[in-house]
Amino acid sequence: MSHFSIVCRKCGKMLENAYCAFCEHCVNALLVTQYKDKEFSCGQAEGAWKFNWLPVHSPGFRQPGPAVYRSEGFARKIGIPELYICFCGYWPEKGAHLKTCTFKEFEAAVVIQNAMENGMQGLVAASAGNTARAFAHLSSVAGFPAIIVVPSMCLSEMWYLGDEASGGAPTIAVSDGDYADSINTAKRIAIVAGMPFEGGVKNIAKRDGLGIAMLEAVSTMGMLPRHYFQAVGSGAGAIAAWEMSERFLKDGRFGKVLPALHLAQNLPFAPMTKAYLKKSRELFPEDLDFALVSETTTRVLSNRYPAYGVLGGVYDALEATGGVMYGVANEEVYAAMDLFEETEGIDLVPAAGVAAAALIQATRSGKVGTDGPVLLNITGGGERRLKRDRAVKRVSPYLISKNASENEIEKLLNYAMR
Ligand SMILES: *Cc1c(COP(=O)(O)O)cnc(C)c1O
Repeated sequence: MSHFSIVCRKCGKMLENAYCAFCEHCVNALLVTQYKDKEFSCGQAEGAWKFNWLPVHSPGFRQPGPAVYRSEGFARKIGIPELYICFCGYWPEKGAHLKTCTFKEFEAAVVIQNAMENGMQGLVAASAGNTARAFAHLSSVAGFPAIIVVPSMCLSEMWYLGDEASGGAPTIAVSDGDYADSINTAKRIAIVAGMPFEGGVKNIAKRDGLGIAMLEAVSTMGMLPRHYFQAVGSGAGAIAAWEMSERFLKDGRFGKVLPALHLAQNLPFAPMTKAYLKKSRELFPEDLDFALVSETTTRVLSNRYPAYGVLGGVYDALEATGGVMYGVANEEVYAAMDLFEETEGIDLVPAAGVAAAALIQATRSGKVGTDGPVLLNITGGGERRLKRDRAVKRVSPYLISKNASENEIEKLLNYAMR
């Protein structure tokens, strides 16, 4: 018997041993994992695998967790008495060893192990930047075939660890399309390759993997934070933080109140911030204009189909926790990145700068920080630190057209998967 079941947020239907399943009759609701263990515990396994509330345990490969510590310098500077940092990145001096430098590694590790345990032969991930790098890395670490599909306009943001580039996952770049075209092409590639298409936020393994940040934080703090800060793109990480908090609340030993979610986007592309300001469950089409993305510093946050209005998504997470959405301008992002590096001694990726800037905004209201500990999820950092230790390479992609025939896809795969 499995140590968890999967439950539909809407109708409460329970599915056993389901892989990436959708609840057939509630298409607009997320499924959540329900663990048989009501009590949180850490086992003997190393790194991220020690937590009981994960769908997979003790795989044959290592996955480090984040480093959680109490901030002194940054906390003092911005005037938050009890501030904890969950550092998801590369900072070996602090015990953070994520070689792709973001919390996307947790997602990739749990999704890949879950796919393996469910008899999958590989998977196709359509993504750019941090997610693509995390899946390519974990494919290599776990020895599990993965095909990464990216729009070629995003290639400039892609780097792989030098010593893994040859053994890693083949990267296919869609030469004549945008992000939506590359998702469509990836779905066709998945059919030809006979591998599942990595299904995004609906995959419980993805959200529970991202929830490792909250698991490590509560395990270190000994209690739930009162406030949780994170930058959001798809919303999966924030939903994961909420879902894990609900489990801690049911456990009963870690607090009686759900942490308030403080979620941030980079202006001017901030569709969730703008919708939630008006308390709307629907995003406004004018806020999804692609032209806005080019004015932000954080393409990783520029998801145009976030899990916002779906039942059990970001809107519900904000409502349930008394959450707040923030819009952060580019100058605030740079200033927060600089201040964090000065006071804590490590570089941040811009998305993490968005979260740090939101926390700075929140201190101005004078409310956050007076009523309990604050947790700042630094979702990515230490890229510059990593590049001091390790060689990194630009990705050498296989190019394909969005109009490629099945035959052409098959030829390319035969070549790329040798
Ligand atoms: C993806 C990403 C985010 C946003 O996470 P979502 O789950 O997509 O909302 C934040 N920070 C970094 C560094 C990321 O890579």
